Amino acid sequence: LSGVQERTLIAVKPDGVQRRLVGQIIQRFEQRGFKLVGLKMVQVSEDLLSQHYGQLRTKPFYPSLLHYMTSGPVVAMVWEGHNVVQTSRSMVGHTNPAEARAGTVRGDFSIHVSRNVVHASDSQEGAQREIQLWFQGKELLNWDCCDQSITCEV
Ligand code: GDP
Ligand code: MG
Repeated sequence: LSGVQERTLIAVKPDGVQRRLVGQIIQRFEQRGFKLVGLKMVQVSEDLLSQHYGQLRTKPFYPSLLHYMTSGPVVAMVWEGHNVVQTSRSMVGHTNPAEARAGTVRGDFSIHVSRNVVHASDSQEGAQREIQLWFQGKELLNWDCCDQSITCEV
C-alpha cells in the first residue's frame, strides 16, 4: 500500500459505555470495512476535554458537557480507511438525536443531544488534531488488513 491512509477519532462516550454499546459500535465500523488502528479505554481529564472541545468553551452547555464526558470511562478508537472522516460522520448521524436518521448510531441509540453516545471527528484537520491529542504515536498500529485490496481500489 502506498500513501497515508485517512484516519479519524471515534469515541464511545460515557453513556454509550454504561449502556454496553461498545461492541455494537465497533461492529458497525468493522462491517463497513474500516480498519481499527488504535483502541483504549480512558477516564478523560478535564484538561484533555478542554482542548478537545475548545471551540465550544463559550456555549451554555459546556460545563454540563465536561461533567458528562468525565462521568465515566470513554472508549477511544482510531479508524482508518478511504474517506473515513466523512463516512463515519454519516454513520454516527446528526449531533441532535432528534434529527439523526434511523440507521445511524445516534438515530438508533439516543434521544437527547446531551447524551448522544458517540464522538466522531468532523474534518480531516480536526481528526489529525484529535488523534494527536488522544493517542501517542506508539499507540497507533500500522498493519495490513487482509481484505483491504478487496474493499477498496488501491
Ligand atoms: P458533534 O461533532 O456532532 O459531536 O457536535 P459538536 O461538535 O457541535 O458538539 C460536541 C458535543 O457537545 C455533542 O456531541 C453533544 O454531546 C454536545 N452538544 C452539542 N450541542 C449541544 C446542546 O445544544 N446541548 C447540550 N446539552 N449538548 C450539546
Ligand atoms: Mg464535533
